[in-house]
Amino acid sequence: MTIVGARPQFIKAAALSREIAKHAQLNEIIIHTGQHFDENMSEIFFREMEIPKPNYNLNINGLSHGAMTGQMLEGIEKIIVDEKPDIVLIYGDTNSTIAGALAAKKLHIKVAHVEAGLRSFNMQMPEEINRILTDRISDYLFCPTDTAVNNLKKEGFDQFDCEIIKTGDVMEDTALFYSKKSEELSDIIDKLKLNKGDYILATIHRAENTDNEDNLNNIIEALNQVNNQIQVVVPLHPRTKNIIKQSGVKVNFTVIDPVGYFDMIQLISCSNLIISDSGGLQKEAFIFGKYCVTIREQTEWIELVQNHYNFIVGTNKELIISTTQKLIDTIFPEKIDLYGNGKASNNICNVLLK
Ligand code: UDP
Repeated sequence: MTIVGARPQFIKAAALSREIAKHAQLNEIIIHTGQHFDENMSEIFFREMEIPKPNYNLNINGLSHGAMTGQMLEGIEKIIVDEKPDIVLIYGDTNSTIAGALAAKKLHIKVAHVEAGLRSFNMQMPEEINRILTDRISDYLFCPTDTAVNNLKKEGFDQFDCEIIKTGDVMEDTALFYSKKSEELSDIIDKLKLNKGDYILATIHRAENTDNEDNLNNIIEALNQVNNQIQVVVPLHPRTKNIIKQSGVKVNFTVIDPVGYFDMIQLISCSNLIISDSGGLQKEAFIFGKYCVTIREQTEWIELVQNHYNFIVGTNKELIISTTQKLIDTIFPEKIDLYGNGKASNNICNVLLK
């Protein structure tokens, strides 16, 4: 039983669902919690990536963390009791992740966590709380990187009754699998009249940035200023859009609605570089050979920073601008294999089959 609810989870599940479908012994039931629900935050991903239609949709969204997680827990529990899955698969670090893990574990169903072991070491982040608690009650910890494995070992997980398995990252599987298709099917570059290599793609959606006025203003002022030099294109997350609208802050860069995965992959691969607080985008920037200027104080994807593909600048306006300016004309370093070269879902599936 796969439990998803937020955009990055659809993208991760696309890889594994495709792999699961290859094996007649495996039958997948999908629950969509409804955390993300718009056409362009949810449905388009199922359609474009041909993810099987969810068997259940709980339609739970727009609530506080406690209410959302609580309602999900109740809804998922009922379905698990009816369907009696052998194993529950959860992804990443959202409220849907922790609700799925907790519901399953208390019913003594095996829990498998895809993207286990990631840490920002910032307990102010709701995602960090979700990750740590989910890992602790998971039976199979599918780690994307060596860093993730080491994080778990340092926390004593090798003493717990669970299996830690380094699998690689399913997001790389998805990116590699759809890159050609997106090139053929997306017309976003022409539609927005963008010149290849001559614009920056940026996203902002982390609560620590959107819910902190100073941080958000610094980021927006920096993007406004960078936009005077090179066009900045921002597919704006609905939450960020509402906050910017309410605050009345002036934006002079190009704002577009969130786009589907194929358009996104094109926007990334034709950009000069990326500025983002997204976890997934940091990896996709690397996969498509683009620098990422990360507007956060930490990252879970530390190997990108260690190898000089990714630069952590926080929300310091001057640092965002100067780092971006420095990287615009810098050649991207040779890539090393950090995420498994598209074999993660195959590795995970082999464990599920066993
Ligand atoms: N993404 C997308 N369309 C957009 C913005 C992002 O398809 O308009 C994709 C992006 O390429 C990546 C994923 O959504 O695969 C990242 O999701 P998000 O930034 O919402 O979450 P995070 O990765 O930070 O958990």
